[in-house]
Amino acid sequence: MSDTFFGSDFNELAASDPEIANVLIDELTRLRGGIQLIASENFTSPSVLTALGSTLSNKYAEGYPGKRYYGGCEVVDVAENLAIDRAKKLFGADHANLQPHSGASANIAVFGAFLKPGDTYLAMALPHGGHLTHGAGVSYSGKWFNPVHYGVAEGTEDIDYNQMRDLAREHRPKLIVAGGSAIPRLIDFEAIRAICDEVGAIMHVDAAHFIGLVAGKAIPSPVPFADVVSFTTHKVLRGPRSGMIVCKEEHASAIDKAVFPLMQGGPMMHVIAAKAVALKECMTPEYQKYAREVIVNAKVLTSELATHGMRPVTGGTDTHLALLDLQGIGVTGKDAEQRTGASGIVLNKNSIPYDPAPPSVASGIRVGTPSVTTQGMGTEEMKQIAHFISRAVTTDSARDHADIKAEVTELVTKFPAYPRP
Ligand SMILES: *Cc1c(COP(=O)(O)O)cnc(C)c1O
Repeated sequence: MSDTFFGSDFNELAASDPEIANVLIDELTRLRGGIQLIASENFTSPSVLTALGSTLSNKYAEGYPGKRYYGGCEVVDVAENLAIDRAKKLFGADHANLQPHSGASANIAVFGAFLKPGDTYLAMALPHGGHLTHGAGVSYSGKWFNPVHYGVAEGTEDIDYNQMRDLAREHRPKLIVAGGSAIPRLIDFEAIRAICDEVGAIMHVDAAHFIGLVAGKAIPSPVPFADVVSFTTHKVLRGPRSGMIVCKEEHASAIDKAVFPLMQGGPMMHVIAAKAVALKECMTPEYQKYAREVIVNAKVLTSELATHGMRPVTGGTDTHLALLDLQGIGVTGKDAEQRTGASGIVLNKNSIPYDPAPPSVASGIRVGTPSVTTQGMGTEEMKQIAHFISRAVTTDSARDHADIKAEVTELVTKFPAYPRP
């Protein structure tokens, strides 16, 4: 295949555009040089990157396989059909739409399929772990619709299903969204289905964060319960940066029309091909083992951080991520993010439920294990990382941060992201 051109000739780019070529190198160096604990990130396989860097990027293919508005789609149709078949098989879904460009745009399509402007829906409050696209005032979801928010119970810090039921009875929403970006625990899909059935609402699960764990059969699936499940493909799922929707057969046509032409134009066929590659990877026993290890690593990292005085919200985690309350050690989320960053550990500050601090400061941090697990790290390394974090967040000294960074470098050298061939 050495005579086949896939666009990945780095030397040519380096000669014609050294500035951007350097950005590509610097980003790879950054990824390899630190510990990536952003819960929504992962490292795709080189095969996914090959599909992304292919000439499929050139093709206009508005419409769906076999029903396009452009000629010359017979080759890309093969990629999209493979992606659809794999998605249906992997998730046991009636119908799959592979075209949304991202998680946020997948959610626009779901709203477009089931809601009219001004309609009422229920979703999790952002400060309790929801997402901007679940009704934040700065998002279309809050500006053009009428969101009513449920949250977590103050005692358990887990989703308050009683509040959800009460709000559903009171507001009679057309749709209920479950899911969010900082929910460490499993979601009770059966309970939400019962509430949706009682009030006649569509059940929409935004599984962006945890769908990779579902794909790896490491946690229960929302697909049998929900009318529609939207998600990103670049988080634990380890595919290209993109979105996707699966739904019941009765909603297939509404979802397809809402993705195209209501919400977007031409699909990104190179990204759809890359999604097909990732979905095939997800069907392997290796990926299922990976998904289980992501959770084991998250549990160990969380309990170790707890021994260092960082309180896990809800007391722990069942998934790939944890939220740690730093009030007990007297450090803000903002300072923790800056201090760990200076020590070679990338994570994000995060509001905790009922946070007394504003979101720009926040009392917590969010950590996730998809990337470090892809690198092959295990429980011993999680303990080491917890120790690094504990030392980093409790000191303001640049010298201490440099010392920790040297140890971080030593660790990641043993577990390289994107090992050199
Ligand atoms: C990440 C995320 C999204 C948005 O995905 P983008 O690809 O960044 O648009 C939507 N919903 C939830 C719950 C998420 O975690």
